[in-house]
Amino acid sequence: MAKPVPLLAEMLAAAVLLSACESPNERLPEYELAGQTMGTTYSVKLVAPDENIDRIGLGEKLHEKLVYIDGSMSTYDQNSELSRFNAAESTDWISVSAELCSVISSALDLSSRTDGAFDITVGPLVNLWGFGPEGVISVPPADDQITAARSRIGFEKVSTDCGLPAIKKDQTDIYVDLSAFAKGYAVDQSAELLEANDVANYLVEIGGELRVGGHNAAGKPWAIAVEKPLDNTREVQSVMNLTNSAVATSGDYRNFFEYDGNRYSHTIDPRSGRPVTHEGAAVTVVSDSAADADALATALLVLGPDDGLKFAANQGIAANFLVRTDSGIEHQRTAGFSALVN
Ligand code: FAD
Repeated sequence: MAKPVPLLAEMLAAAVLLSACESPNERLPEYELAGQTMGTTYSVKLVAPDENIDRIGLGEKLHEKLVYIDGSMSTYDQNSELSRFNAAESTDWISVSAELCSVISSALDLSSRTDGAFDITVGPLVNLWGFGPEGVISVPPADDQITAARSRIGFEKVSTDCGLPAIKKDQTDIYVDLSAFAKGYAVDQSAELLEANDVANYLVEIGGELRVGGHNAAGKPWAIAVEKPLDNTREVQSVMNLTNSAVATSGDYRNFFEYDGNRYSHTIDPRSGRPVTHEGAAVTVVSDSAADADALATALLVLGPDDGLKFAANQGIAANFLVRTDSGIEHQRTAGFSALVN
């Protein structure tokens, strides 16, 4: 499932770097581990890992971790831990893995922090609008269907007790959707696995969420581009030089349908029960954690370029909004983001 993927300017930068200031043999050795996960792809670049590191074994450990997270947190796998919780006709405490409890607890904290703009109980609306595992739609749902789905929304209706560990829902038809958080979490877990195996210079990317450690193969900060929110082509909007950071982008130009001249994308405003309708086309967030960046990018896209930019500035979030205007795409960014851009 495509999404606004921060173009790895590394490929572009590599062309510029190689032509401008170095020969291929000046670049450090770089290895890539790649595969499929969570309905998308992943790529892990290792730069000059110690020769004694078992790269094949490390690739297997990474893949096992991603399979585990998918099996725990997917709403596309009806046997996942999360799907079993969603299907449970119970408002009692339900035992879950410590990892799922911790992820849901962190996601609920972000829902609180964003006053519900990011809300993991938004799943019934995501599915009603055709952006979940139940399949796509081409005509917007009726108002009464939206009202009915909205009665199932509200992060405050989910509780965690990770000392047990267990989670519970205040009404049986609550349906948790971790799609705007768990991919970022998987990036963080992969980065931490690399660091635990003494790999300091890396880039981990899963379906557009990414995190970099140390430097690239040219011995420089990783050059990560944000692309313009264009429907059918890929163009660079800006390039950031990053190290030890995570980046996530949420946008309305990869996963949407149009009806009667209106665009309906997969970022849902829990307050209205509808896809966001403002002129903000995409938001990129840079943070220490990919899970936080993932959720905050979704929250800021829901809040929109006015309220979202104010929220990001107040919270010290490095955020870049790409907004459609009569004269084309314009960027509005916080000081924290401006400091990262070339
Ligand atoms: P993002 O902008 O990161 O997230 C948008 C998604 O977040 C929406 O699709 C919706 O699900 C949710 N959302 C929308 N509004 C809000 C809101 N206000 N608050 C909180 N969340 C909101 N896709 C497949 O097609 N097949 C699979 O097998 C599959 N397996 C998956 C397994 C896991 C564990 C996860 C986490 C996701 C899986 N997905 C699968 C979904 C896919 O990987 C992406 O998660 C999906 O495309 C949305 O992520 P994104 O990065 O594209 O967009």
